[in-house]
Amino acid sequence: MNTNTYIKNNLQGESNWYKSHIHCRLCGYDNITMFLDLGFTALADRFITREQLHEPEVTYPLRVVRCNECHFIQLDHTVAPEILYQQDYPYESSTTQTGREHFNQFARSIVEEFGFSKGSLAIDIGSNVGVLLGGFKNQGMRVLGIDPAINIARIAEKNGIPTIADFFNEELASRIAEEHGKAMAITASNVFAHIDRLDILMRGVRRLLHEDGIFVVEAPYLRNLIRVLEYDTIYHEHLSYLSISPLIRFFDRMGMALFDVKEVDIHGGSFRLFVCHKGRYPVLTKVLDMQRQEQEEKLHDLETLNTFAQRVRNHRNQLRHLLESLRHEGKRIAGVSAPAKGMTLLNYCRIGTETLEFITEKTPLKIGRYAPGNSLPILPDSALMTGNIDYALLLAWNFKDEIMNNLSEFRKKGGRFIIPIPNPVIV
Ligand SMILES: [Zn+2]
Repeated sequence: MNTNTYIKNNLQGESNWYKSHIHCRLCGYDNITMFLDLGFTALADRFITREQLHEPEVTYPLRVVRCNECHFIQLDHTVAPEILYQQDYPYESSTTQTGREHFNQFARSIVEEFGFSKGSLAIDIGSNVGVLLGGFKNQGMRVLGIDPAINIARIAEKNGIPTIADFFNEELASRIAEEHGKAMAITASNVFAHIDRLDILMRGVRRLLHEDGIFVVEAPYLRNLIRVLEYDTIYHEHLSYLSISPLIRFFDRMGMALFDVKEVDIHGGSFRLFVCHKGRYPVLTKVLDMQRQEQEEKLHDLETLNTFAQRVRNHRNQLRHLLESLRHEGKRIAGVSAPAKGMTLLNYCRIGTETLEFITEKTPLKIGRYAPGNSLPILPDSALMTGNIDYALLLAWNFKDEIMNNLSEFRKKGGRFIIPIPNPVIV
């Protein structure tokens, strides 16, 4: 084989040469296969200050692998939580109306379905500014938040939600159980997939959960990621990409049972997993139906995953082509909203200051900073009007209706929106 053929073969089949030293987060097996390589990217939540613009930016590999034993999908590189969740972590879950309503409804539906009595304890792991717990509080439950980001925990306290600024583990679980009693509801909304040591998490949950209690996980569903090409939801915080089949086995091994699952329409299609102490609640057929559906659709097959990766590469070409043609026509384009997912999209597609003028945001924590990896300035939404922007690239496409509604003035003045996922369209 000559050198060119060798290189060509190896570039085509990324998994051929790939040898990792990591273990599956769920089953511990070390036989894994990479299927998607998004390159080295800056951390998606590391919005930098003007002073930091002149400093070198650290990038980390963003690669997605499959465990060949239990078929769990995860990143192959784990950035240390101390680096990811630093003190000025900028995410606030209450910044969209859709988000607030979602969490209120989430809490109400759980209390109604399981009939928790007033005064029983609800604990949210990764509680952020306490929006979900606010919902439980409205239902008359005692609440306690746990979140490692000190600045965010302080905001929660101001909102009237007692919050422990720490990482959750078995020791903390024991302490809470002693001081507050066991919890009827423990929730982990958009945090389960962020946790490296899921075994430590689950030992803590088992310790803290009342024998009749429920542990509820809400997370994006791998099936939607694949089907709707939501590859921008892949970033370093999201260590895992969850599906039913591997998790049934995992919870079982941890002495617990996945007994119910509900699909919910947020963040581009999530699911809510209901977990209890093994044997406490009957496992609903819905869980087994979804497991069967995953098998029938070959969701975890390497062929499916490799096809997905090819669609991702094609999408990059398509989006770049669209933006470049608009630039050729002399149009001015800005990004709207700067969620973490937007940073994956921009940085993987190599869209930066040569294509976009700036990005606008509502979150005061991000305005005035610069986007990681591409140095685009973050300005308030009003800049869309004052900056003579023709096209707004909607980076938080999962809140597209709400955002386009808020920016109706922009549209009235002739502005158009580009929705990038799943196929770039102008509306
Ligand atoms: Zn595994």
